Amino acid sequence: MPIDVLIVAEHQGGKLARATWEAVAAGQRMAADSGGAASVVILGDQISALADELAKARLSEVLAVQSKLLSDYTADSYAFVLARVIREHAPDYVVLGHTYQTRDFAPKLAAVLGVGFVSDCLGYRKENTRLIFKRQVFQGKFEAEVEPLGQPPWLVSFQSGSFREDSVERAESHVSTVQIEIPPGTIRTQSGERFREARQTVDLGQAEIIVAAGRGIKSPDNLDMVKKLAEALGGEVGASRPVCDSGWLPMDRQIGSSGQTVAPKLYVALGISGAIQHQVGMKGSRTIVAVNKDKEAPIFEIATYGIVGDLFEIVPPLIEEIRKIKAG
Ligand code: FAD
Repeated sequence: MPIDVLIVAEHQGGKLARATWEAVAAGQRMAADSGGAASVVILGDQISALADELAKARLSEVLAVQSKLLSDYTADSYAFVLARVIREHAPDYVVLGHTYQTRDFAPKLAAVLGVGFVSDCLGYRKENTRLIFKRQVFQGKFEAEVEPLGQPPWLVSFQSGSFREDSVERAESHVSTVQIEIPPGTIRTQSGERFREARQTVDLGQAEIIVAAGRGIKSPDNLDMVKKLAEALGGEVGASRPVCDSGWLPMDRQIGSSGQTVAPKLYVALGISGAIQHQVGMKGSRTIVAVNKDKEAPIFEIATYGIVGDLFEIVPPLIEEIRKIKAG
């Protein structure tokens, strides 16, 4: 039986979130596996350029819901509008990136529709015509398989890095503008400043290169070396929890189960043991380079390249070499 999928796009500051492209990759695959169709819906004001950008993916259509009332995100407006679109288009699955915004409105949307929401999935497998979703439980120690029950539609969100942005299939797709009137009184809240846009916070989820420091760097004075490596590579600095708990770096740099989930192209782990709570936040990274003096450190189990040695001997010449290459 063909599975039809509706993907919900997310955007901020005139840019599509990376999670959107990952959700498109997931939705395209779910639909293609069964011979079904994948469409995208985008909500906002003045979103035609973003809708056109989405239409460069192979989709059956891009639904652009334009309204002044959607210029600022609110859970009320998103739940109201998406419920209307979903009822009209009747997809089997509604696919979302597991972002802060999704966490805010998707439970409400599921409640409005009276359907299930399988959140924060890592992937899925097909069993005949059924899709069974994988998600981590108990801080990533176990993987649970979840199958939504009842009648479709079902909502499903995927963790950052579960699907690759560069696996989105490209083609020219059609954009349809959808008019939905939002009745007065629907929106009961006003958005404040975005969490990720607050001063001095960093959205590591968008970073392409991250150099992360662990307890192995020994002292905050040595962070300078970590920052220099990040700078040389053109990346951001991240950290394991003890580094943030000690106040050596702000909490918004923490990566892991109680920090940010990241999936950069390159993740360099310096003096990080690779505890499961750290791994769940970064194992979706495409290339992982780990430097650790303990060859048994669990980080080496997931590293693409492992360097066993003292980071204080390895990192300074590495910075010099990268600078030389960049200088041509
Ligand atoms: P350590 O485990 O102490 O590892 C330091 C590593 O540095 C060692 O492997 C050592 O061999 C190496 N090293 C030392 N000196 C050198 C040197 N000179 N050169 C090279 N290598 C060296 N952790 C997170 O990171 N993120 C989270 O979000 C998070 N959430 C948690 C939530 C809960 C509920 C709990 C219980 C824990 C959580 N933790 C989290 C903590 C996690 O369990 C680990 O304690 C933590 O990740 C360890 O950090 P680390 O690897 O920097 O330190």
